[in-house]
Amino acid sequence: MIKNTTISGIHYETGEFVTVEISDSLIKSITIHTAQEKKENVPFISPGLIDNQTNGYVGINFQDEIFTVERMRTAARALWKDGVTTFIPTLVTESKENLIRNFRILSQVYNDDYLRGSVPGFHLEGPYISTEKGFYGCHLFKEIRKPSWDEFMEFQEAAGGKIILTTVAPEVEGGLDFIKKCTESGVLVSIGHTNATAEIIYRAVDYGATLSTHLGNGCANTINRHVNPLWPQLACDKLTPSVIADGFHLRPEELTVFFKVKGENNIIITSDVTHLAGMPPGEYEYMGSKVIMNEEGLILNPALNVLAGASMPLKKGIQTMINFTGCSLKQAVNLATKNVARVHRLSDRGILETGKRADIILFTMDEKNHVTIKETWVAGKRVYPES
Ligand SMILES: [Zn+2]
Repeated sequence: MIKNTTISGIHYETGEFVTVEISDSLIKSITIHTAQEKKENVPFISPGLIDNQTNGYVGINFQDEIFTVERMRTAARALWKDGVTTFIPTLVTESKENLIRNFRILSQVYNDDYLRGSVPGFHLEGPYISTEKGFYGCHLFKEIRKPSWDEFMEFQEAAGGKIILTTVAPEVEGGLDFIKKCTESGVLVSIGHTNATAEIIYRAVDYGATLSTHLGNGCANTINRHVNPLWPQLACDKLTPSVIADGFHLRPEELTVFFKVKGENNIIITSDVTHLAGMPPGEYEYMGSKVIMNEEGLILNPALNVLAGASMPLKKGIQTMINFTGCSLKQAVNLATKNVARVHRLSDRGILETGKRADIILFTMDEKNHVTIKETWVAGKRVYPES
């Protein structure tokens, strides 16, 4: 039993000085103070960040064979420290055996009390994606295959039914039918690593696809200016894109256009981090290739001279969105909280409101809009600094 406790800060949306009262795991009340009561150097207060694509953290790869619940706890502590209170572990294109092995471990993660509900389910990105060069990105080419509902059901069984999101290329043989079945079974479908035509993308939406995975990435460098998968995904209001706003994966004008076209309520930021997030610069092995991470956290595959993954915490996306697009703090934070909760139907979090789960962060920002997390609370308990 956790006794009532309070947290105060500047509300990230309104700029008001507020005190949030927590009872057990929930927000019990929010009190707005008068301007006179406002103290100096008060941090901002917002809902905890929600990341729908996390492949690993601090050297722990959710996909590798030494992955365990204990290692996930270590990764979660590092994510909490970076202000992420909910994350969706993501497994990518791999052999059937290895995917089943790690979904089994993830099903234990889901039920782990220590994680306090930070993991609401899992994301399977691939293996049913484009085999065209440039579109499959750094996924293991030899393991990319046609959609198989039976195989997916085996993954789902291993995962305890908690695969809640899958990234699919709708144009591959059987892709549309697969999307339909996923939607009917309650799994969210995101279009990604795709070179689909407009017609197929619109059909995928008719069949239930609601998201676009890391729009602007997982796409060949050279595409037709009229016929390419970007225009229809931008044109379709029913698709909410995720964007990797780490400052490397998309240029300022791309992020600005995506944000303007979709609007502040219909786009989310994701980290898509590999396990190299939080690691020192250097040479590493990733997805069977040698990669180099530089001082800024940029990960390059030198043999192919392409970006080979992301390493920036989700909070970097808040800074990037503000600096690249000129959006407000409120808008930027909502892209990593309210909007993500909405698309994932996590109605208990992502918003500072009475009755919601007390997933809360306190943070400061410097003149370059760099975000520093001061405190992180998950379900009413302070998890950073650990109490
Ligand atoms: Zn991807």
